[in-house]
Amino acid sequence: HDFEAQSQKINNFLQNVDHKIVVMSGKGGVGKSTIATNLAVFLSSQGYKVGLLDVDVHGPSVAGLLGLTDLKLNIINNRIQPYSYTDNLKVISIQGLLNQPDEPLIWRGPMKIGIIRQFLGDADWGPLDFLIIDSPPGTGDEPLTVAQTVTDCQAVIVTTPQEISLADVRKSIQFCQKVNMPILGLIENMSGFVCPSCNSLHAIFKSGGGEQLATAAKIPFLGRLPIDPSVVTAGDAGQSIDSLNNPSKEKLQGIVDQIIN
Ligand code: ADP
Repeated sequence: HDFEAQSQKINNFLQNVDHKIVVMSGKGGVGKSTIATNLAVFLSSQGYKVGLLDVDVHGPSVAGLLGLTDLKLNIINNRIQPYSYTDNLKVISIQGLLNQPDEPLIWRGPMKIGIIRQFLGDADWGPLDFLIIDSPPGTGDEPLTVAQTVTDCQAVIVTTPQEISLADVRKSIQFCQKVNMPILGLIENMSGFVCPSCNSLHAIFKSGGGEQLATAAKIPFLGRLPIDPSVVTAGDAGQSIDSLNNPSKEKLQGIVDQIIN
């Protein structure tokens, strides 16, 4: 009965969200959270109402990437109040419910499923144009819960160009196909490094593998972002790529434009 009642609350919320996008990856460390967070920031700065939901229970990164390491979410009348980063961008991360920021959550599947459903059904998001969900890498409980709960969700998949990352991304693609989640497209991150001294492109993790994989899997290729040390500096400082005013910003804007259209 409780499950049904909560499903109803979740559906009431999701009815008022135009686009739901989960950002996935096969492996960790490929820039998935960076891309999810910055997609949300770029969309919100274009005037869309955006919700950014971090469902990475064991390694939430979204709060840190937005400079919200001390994030504390309020709960009023049993409803979670998303943090208003700006008027257009609301954020929920498990980070905001922990007593100690470095405390690990030692949770099994059912608890993770429960908290993700609460983030969707028991939070005052208000109506949204976009809900961006940052999922942990792989094909475990969290993306499965998203797929089963947010039935019209679409996936953006992030990979780096080398084979060891691509191999796991093929699993992410098959996961989406098995759960009937349409794939908006693939992003190749950390694709080459432009040397600031000589200006030539060095393919540190190779380059082009993501695009080849997208072509082979018949899914859209959304674009590539090079390795850019200022992306790391910005992320560590809790600043967005929007603030960089360099080629990474233009590249990401190009990817965002493709997602909107
Ligand atoms: P994931 O969510 O896949 O685990 P993160 O988004 O946490 O990965 O990124 C891992 C690290 O890589 C972070 O330090 C981030 O700043 C850095 N990073 C992400 N994308 C790039 C890029 N294009 N160039 C340089 N560093 C990047």
